[in-house]
Amino acid sequence: MHIDSHRLVGAGIAHSQSPNQGGPFAAGTPDTLIVHFTAAASAGWAIDRLCDPTPGARVSAHLVVARDGGITQLLPFDTIAWHAGKSAWGGRTGFNNFSLGLEIDNAGRLRPEGDHFVNWQGQPFPAGEAVVAIHGNESQPSWWHRYPQVQLDVVHDLCGLLAAAYGIRWILGHEEISPQRKDDPGPAFPLDALRQHLLPLAHYAPSGESPPV
Ligand SMILES: [Zn+2]
Repeated sequence: MHIDSHRLVGAGIAHSQSPNQGGPFAAGTPDTLIVHFTAAASAGWAIDRLCDPTPGARVSAHLVVARDGGITQLLPFDTIAWHAGKSAWGGRTGFNNFSLGLEIDNAGRLRPEGDHFVNWQGQPFPAGEAVVAIHGNESQPSWWHRYPQVQLDVVHDLCGLLAAAYGIRWILGHEEISPQRKDDPGPAFPLDALRQHLLPLAHYAPSGESPPV
């Protein structure tokens, strides 16, 4: 897997073109990688939504990683995607303008129903795919959709490749830049381990502190 003209090239990498984009990044950006879960039951459903041309839909991301590790790129890496929304961290706001958006196929928060679990859309998931954990922005435990190891391995490799190619300085969760509205990628995702491995020197100030530059 490598990057050629801001596009991923390699076996099994699919490309779609989202119409939802904000033009080229300014010089010096992107410098941040934002990790999301799709909160959807399938990668295909999420990709359709992230490419939805309906006025008012207006969402996209650069990449979607399916549960089997399959990668779909929706926008070239020199183009602004609409994945962050209202966001603030480290003295900056509006993170679409500074960041690449990586969506991971994961249903997010689950709740028990009989002998299985359901997501916010009422779709069923087997009990073996649910993990209990306390979200970093919360105080009580919840159930979350497990990330398969093959998917985590692909996300790790992808983040490493993008960090090297674009001089990425921070890897952040959507839940950290939009803590009032977002809970992705959630406590089932090993965000701290990922960034400690890939960007061990980055400084992650708690929100509200001065810019970590
Ligand atoms: Zn998100």
